[in-house]
Amino acid sequence: MTATIIDGTAVASSIRTRLSKEVEKLSGKNVYPGLAAVIVGNDPASISYVTAKAKACAEVGIMSETFALPSESTEADLDSLITKLNLDDRFQAILPQLPLPSHFDAHKVIDAISPEKDADGLHPVNLGRLLRGEIDGPLPCTPHGVLQLLQYAGVDPVGKHVVIVGRSTLVGRPLSVLLSNKTRGANGTVTICHSATENLQEYTYSADILIVAVGQPLSVTAEMVQEGAVVIDVGVNRIEDSTRKRGWRLVGDVDFSGVSEVASYITKVPGGVGPMTIAMLLANTVDAAARKAGLDAIFLG
Ligand code: NDP
Repeated sequence: MTATIIDGTAVASSIRTRLSKEVEKLSGKNVYPGLAAVIVGNDPASISYVTAKAKACAEVGIMSETFALPSESTEADLDSLITKLNLDDRFQAILPQLPLPSHFDAHKVIDAISPEKDADGLHPVNLGRLLRGEIDGPLPCTPHGVLQLLQYAGVDPVGKHVVIVGRSTLVGRPLSVLLSNKTRGANGTVTICHSATENLQEYTYSADILIVAVGQPLSVTAEMVQEGAVVIDVGVNRIEDSTRKRGWRLVGDVDFSGVSEVASYITKVPGGVGPMTIAMLLANTVDAAARKAGLDAIFLG
């Protein structure tokens, strides 16, 4: 079997087209979505992510501004910036670019954001609401992007065994909650694996839908995957590649060449989950603006 590729770039692009139409409609009601991105320090990967997000905002008509603090800033500096942004009506969503330099406690920073301005859906209030099955608030972007990819591919998790490898608060854990919710496009039977899982292959092989978010390049191989499974690769890893001018290339956590021979559907890296994460950030921003204006959320509503 050769798997059908679920093209995240194409799905994200159609979501962005839909969002730009919504932004235009909102402007007719004098509602202008705005995103404040906060970056601390000069980590090149973080800078390139923030730049990509700002560009994506501009493309759909969302106003965005990046607030950059030097790496030697203190938690108090960042706290005071977030407090100001919470009160700034130009921005309905605030995004601290993670990871922050090691002297910051990311949880404290996220906690300081008003839950309704939580662009990433990672505030404890929003994660708690997700746990209660209330999915009308901002959802964590990457997990929500995975759900959208499955939906666009026509893969319905209802009743299926969904195995998620990775239990981070950013990806694996909220995804396990979203996919086990009794809602349309979810309702799966979810198993979550991690570094202490014994016989990982037994679990991955039993998956109808396998989602991998571990940060270990090419670690899920063909013999770990059941014939016909749907495989979503969240991982983004740099590996050395002397054939490339820059000396490296991006790969996922899944060995695409082998696994695509057994899976029915598969995502690629790059061009799979990554573009969806940005699209869902835009969706959260547009929805936050709609809610703030007393209108129904557009994307999640
Ligand atoms: P974390 O490092 O926070 O979590 C990794 C998880 O994988 C942990 O739960 C860890 O277990 C588990 N794990 C690690 N090694 C193994 C192993 N050998 N077997 C089983 N489980 C293992 O990473 P993130 O969740 O933040 O990110 C995961 C990957 O996804 C990364 O490559 C990251 O770059 C990528 N990513 C991609 C995004 C996108 O938009 N495409 C967005 C966010 C992340 P334990 O808990 O026991 O340590």
